[in-house]
Amino acid sequence: MAKLQKTTTSLIGLIAAFTLVRGQDFGYEGKKGPSHWGEQYNTCFGKFQSPIDIDSLTVKHAKLPPLKLNDSNVPPDQTVIKNNGHTVMVSIEADQRPTITGGPLGGTYEFAQLHFHWGENDTMGSEDSIDGHSFPMELHMVFYKKQYRNIRSAMENSDGLAVLAFFFNLDDKDNPNYIEITELLSNVSEPETSAPFTRLNSIQDLILSDLDEYYTYHGSLTTPPCSEVVTWIDFKQSIPLSHAQIELFRTIQDNEGHHLTHNFRPIQPLGGRDVYFVTSFTGGDNDSYGEFEKDDTRLEDPPQDLTQTNSDYKQSTLMETTTYRTVTNDNEIDRKPVHEQDHNELVEPTTIDHRNVHKPGRNIASDCRTSTLWLIISLHCIVSIIYSVNIY
Ligand SMILES: [Zn+2]
Repeated sequence: MAKLQKTTTSLIGLIAAFTLVRGQDFGYEGKKGPSHWGEQYNTCFGKFQSPIDIDSLTVKHAKLPPLKLNDSNVPPDQTVIKNNGHTVMVSIEADQRPTITGGPLGGTYEFAQLHFHWGENDTMGSEDSIDGHSFPMELHMVFYKKQYRNIRSAMENSDGLAVLAFFFNLDDKDNPNYIEITELLSNVSEPETSAPFTRLNSIQDLILSDLDEYYTYHGSLTTPPCSEVVTWIDFKQSIPLSHAQIELFRTIQDNEGHHLTHNFRPIQPLGGRDVYFVTSFTGGDNDSYGEFEKDDTRLEDPPQDLTQTNSDYKQSTLMETTTYRTVTNDNEIDRKPVHEQDHNELVEPTTIDHRNVHKPGRNIASDCRTSTLWLIISLHCIVSIIYSVNIY
């Protein structure tokens, strides 16, 4: 009888955890707003959170090998846009998924999804800001470190994710590359709806080709669970978009049936972190190093990985310049398809609360072998595997 009671209790607990994971119970206003996220997700009160304001006059300068975006122009089998109640997210189905290497990254990172953040009007909307300046919208292209096999496992490691962040600037003309996606917004105005692209050639069309100048720092997801596992790469060059195109993003509905007029998290404390402004160098010893040529700040041994702790940063070979100044123009995980090992399968977006979900891989397998409640644990295993993490 006691055993039956224990089993029942476990089952109820499992259902409760399942409900919590599926809840995505956060928003951008009131009691669900950013100032309350930490009550349910402790990490949101962490020391190295995102977004931040980047001070271009105090950033450290570095020259690193080029950041390479591979296979981004390969047409996917399918590209889908989805309203998940917090943003609109673009995901792909493809045998060959885009990857990024080089720059500050120590390894190969594979594409998971991209999504957008925007504001109530064109004076706000980006998450990171530059010298106190906010941009009207920001694109986040989310990658996970391939050696961790899936995004959920990657989120257990400080170097697990890399996010390419592109700011948008206001332009008088519509951006032709954004015509289809803005047209599709009316098809996904309600939460948990999606629509396929038919004209978009590849996700490369939504971003910039110049990846040579960017800011980078170590931070967190900008939505719960706010895990501090992200190498942020914010490009200096921004993407043009018209007011009319940005306005259409504000028309989609959130989970409460209201227009999602804004979905950016407020600026978080820098907490003593170093932020770098990186210019790529190419070629061999005889190559020019452009504006850094006179600074004598070339890296003898470029760091393999900037996704380390802040103290690790200080011990790196990065050097600070005093003569170069950055000029910014006037104008910066839910997720989806969190792809498990089978990248062809689109997995339902969810939010993971790490306090309630077993860690993947070895821990789950061990539990499954040893627990007398093997049936319940097995069910838990299945839930844990199917409902992986999403990132906004
Ligand atoms: Zn985001």
